[in-house]
Amino acid sequence: SSVRKYTGMVEDCCCDFETVDAINEEVLHPILQDLVKLPFFRYFKVKLWCDCPFWPDDGMCRLRDCSVCECPDNEFPEQFKRPYNGLSPDSMICQEGKPQAAVDKTLDSRVFKGWVETDNPWTNDDETDNAEMTYVNLQLNPERYTGYTGDSARRIWDSIYKENCPKYPSEDMCQEKKALYKLISGLHSSISVHIAYDYLLDESTNLWGHNLPLLYDRVLKYPERVQNLYFTYLFVLRAVTKATDYLEQAEYNTGNPEDDLKTQSLVKQLLYNPKLRTACPLPFDEAKLWQGENGPEIQKQFRNISAIMDCVGCEKCRLWGKLQVLGLGTALKILFSVDGESHLNQQRNEVIALFNLLNRLSESVKFVHEKGSSIEEVIKQQ
Ligand code: FAD
Repeated sequence: SSVRKYTGMVEDCCCDFETVDAINEEVLHPILQDLVKLPFFRYFKVKLWCDCPFWPDDGMCRLRDCSVCECPDNEFPEQFKRPYNGLSPDSMICQEGKPQAAVDKTLDSRVFKGWVETDNPWTNDDETDNAEMTYVNLQLNPERYTGYTGDSARRIWDSIYKENCPKYPSEDMCQEKKALYKLISGLHSSISVHIAYDYLLDESTNLWGHNLPLLYDRVLKYPERVQNLYFTYLFVLRAVTKATDYLEQAEYNTGNPEDDLKTQSLVKQLLYNPKLRTACPLPFDEAKLWQGENGPEIQKQFRNISAIMDCVGCEKCRLWGKLQVLGLGTALKILFSVDGESHLNQQRNEVIALFNLLNRLSESVKFVHEKGSSIEEVIKQQ
């Protein structure tokens, strides 16, 4: 049996690692795995158009595979428009062309209906602009290795970290900014975990499988990144439980009563699970961490992060990037409404993003827990 690597409280949260792993593996992971396969949760509406508003001069929009890009000169902060130094033109390939990076847009007869379309103030896309949106079946497009890498990918992460949530700990950095940094870092860890979980090991034989050295090099080697993954998981879980009343009575209507009843029942099983409610009743205490005075500024920064998603030069990464940023934006909206925005007003796409994000984080937490304590041995043997 292996020795537990992470113990004690998850930083800035109200549950310890052991409890998180237990409720994740016994309760949340199995329920979420079933839930996201149901029709209500497997379709996501998204603008996949690559119209990066930043870096208009550095060639991104002239790239062969990004010919559809538009670069409107809008009101984003100057630092976002600064040309990025150190890019070699060869490495600035959008990588849209790789088969594993493309989104399968197979149409399905079940489409969205019913819910009111409103905008999420935390994100940049106009959710109500239906002409620009496509419907994507998430089950056909698992988040995994796509081959998207190099300067184009690094530039996105760099600008998210550098321009939006500079790395703590600076003494006077407010709690909210630290939380924002941790949310993004936790999401980044989760994306890396999914790349490691489902990696193209051999292109010639199309062999997919785990890439444990990658898991170690990008995530497990850095205790802070593991902490942040658990933090993000608990943060999103708290948002879901805080919105219990709303989520319980929301209309999970896809036109198939059998599926829809199942959806409703699984959502209730998750929200009212006795083990979850006793073991980790308050996964994260927003009142303690969020003083609120910086709310509007944090909201603006998060919107900028959301806007950068249009610059992700790989369609499938853009899809999951956008979904997860909308999920985080929804969690932020639920926990920290600014200027009286109602958290009781989620729209369908937000609920879909929220649960799919929680499922992704839950998968990452599980894989990290399974491999975390034994991986150093595994790596040494290779
Ligand atoms: P990167 O992951 O690019 O990291 C860049 C730098 O950020 C690191 O050098 C490190 O300094 C810092 N860093 C890394 N992790 C953390 C963390 N958790 N917290 C804080 N700082 C950190 N690729 C795929 O194959 N499939 C996908 O689905 C996919 N989705 C993506 C979605 C988005 C929104 C973006 C921006 C990229 C996505 N990518 C995806 C690309 C992937 O995230 C990496 O950028 C790529 O694999 C190259 O990895 P890297 O080793 O250069 O480090």
